[in-house]
Amino acid sequence: MIEGNPFLPLPEGMCIEHIQRTETDLVVSVVSTYPTSRCPLCSWPSSSVHSLYQRSVRDVPCGGQNVRLTLTARKFFCRNDDCRRKIFTERFPTFVEPWAQMTVRLCEEIQAIGFSTSGSLGTRLATRLGISTSWMTILRRMMALPTPGAGSVVALGIDDFSFRRGRKFGTILVDLDLHQVIDVLAERSSQTSADWMRDHPEIIYVSRDRGKDYAQGASEGAPQAVQVSDRFHLMKNFVEAIESEVSRCYRHLRQMQLPLPTSDLPVPDEWRQAPEADAERKRLADKQERYTQVKDLLSRGLSAKEIAQQLAMPVRTVYRWQEREGCPAHQSPHPKRPDKQERYEQIKELRLHGLSQKEIAQRLAIGVRTVQRWQGLETSQVNPPRRKRRSIFDPYAAYVLSRWQQGQRSVSLLWQEIQKQGFTGSLQTMYRFVRVLRQEAVPLPAPGVADRISVQKAIWLLARPSENLKAEERSDLQEICQASQELAALHPLAQSFGQIVRKREGHRLQDWIKQVETSSFRDVKRFTAGLQRDQEEVLAGLTLVYSNGQVEGQVNKLKLIKRMGYGRAGFRLLRQRVLHAL
Ligand SMILES: [Zn+2]
Repeated sequence: MIEGNPFLPLPEGMCIEHIQRTETDLVVSVVSTYPTSRCPLCSWPSSSVHSLYQRSVRDVPCGGQNVRLTLTARKFFCRNDDCRRKIFTERFPTFVEPWAQMTVRLCEEIQAIGFSTSGSLGTRLATRLGISTSWMTILRRMMALPTPGAGSVVALGIDDFSFRRGRKFGTILVDLDLHQVIDVLAERSSQTSADWMRDHPEIIYVSRDRGKDYAQGASEGAPQAVQVSDRFHLMKNFVEAIESEVSRCYRHLRQMQLPLPTSDLPVPDEWRQAPEADAERKRLADKQERYTQVKDLLSRGLSAKEIAQQLAMPVRTVYRWQEREGCPAHQSPHPKRPDKQERYEQIKELRLHGLSQKEIAQRLAIGVRTVQRWQGLETSQVNPPRRKRRSIFDPYAAYVLSRWQQGQRSVSLLWQEIQKQGFTGSLQTMYRFVRVLRQEAVPLPAPGVADRISVQKAIWLLARPSENLKAEERSDLQEICQASQELAALHPLAQSFGQIVRKREGHRLQDWIKQVETSSFRDVKRFTAGLQRDQEEVLAGLTLVYSNGQVEGQVNKLKLIKRMGYGRAGFRLLRQRVLHAL
């Protein structure tokens, strides 16, 4: 008899009788030698053995082998005359539950495997570790774990998360002092969150996002609590507000670096072109615009699939353009037909070689008639110079072009300028002219600041504390501020707001809002209007230490768990996984 085998620790009083190796298992015979056992009903100790019986339980693997314990346990008489129970079986509370088929420690290992893996991976890992089990067992073991109670919460962080691909939302609740997820709810309605908070009258602070659901939930469920409009979300909302401002500035920057046509282009003629040519031109211009959008979204880090969805175009095209450097609009799908002039020279040449009209027609893949017709013509008659109709715009074309090249993009200003020089045409005529300038198919412009620094990067540069920027980032920031006056004006606003948020300087908020009101940033103004509506909570958020930053961290962890579980067994399992996460 071995007592206290270091390879297979057993509770006090349990001894290994002998070990037998079978093909699949290590069978360990264990006897209980503890002199007394307590009656489970009245807790009286008893030493009167009634009989012996055997149990077979699985235990944690040993050296990678399955271990089965043949446990010889005893039945005792309860000697307490007041107890209803006369005979009871010996208990091993921390080692194996009555009637269980595995030891507590094996069960815990299986649960740990379940909480850190999913599906058949769990089963495979278990096998590798020497535990033979099925995923259903693992799942059952996980679900059997009791949910820990939320305990008492002083500072509650609440946020939502999406499951089922953003079609359904749940709620995550975090104890901000303990940095722990305390519950996960299947909904994000104000009703559900209010119900939860009602059970916790001890809550003093509720840190939440800026949506109305949790605001209402907190007002109803925890009216005693101070609501804190979370700094993380304030900053997030602010970044969203400046994102649209920055995108607008970028559109402007891109327009500024539109291709500049060369001045010898026969511009006034262009807009007298046939409607088909116009349609083709428009198609190419559309394509070019689409291409620019795709490149822009790619630079913002969107996936091809997302871009295809957003722009309602096939994914394949996005993939193709992703690989490509120049704009596809300039790569004509059909090779240009040889010039008439050239064709004429070919006919003459072949004729000199003595080929018949029919042979020439075959060789050049043109009609015999054409050969006949062209034979009689002189060179100049084949390709007569296009007669240029004069337009009232012609005298001003060169001037407008040069202004365009200087960067003047305001059509009405250009129109006023040439009106002063005697132009009598309408603004409409000007627009037609300028449209041609814009659509002129010339190669993409050399990359400017807007191409080199993405919108996302620009936002980051504007919003990050300037003192934390690296040297090259600082010069990037300088460059975008030089390129756009608006961005230069946005920079100090973003900096002060960031400082107010980071340093919790709520008292400076009103001054900042006034500053925004005198600016021309529509979306930032809309953002400040929202701040005014939510004033108390925002001020609490900008003054108190509580913030949802850590909640966001927990949401990320939850997302990871969710992806791992592929949404199997739905919300209950997800909740279990999150609350028992390793
Ligand atoms: Zn008893």
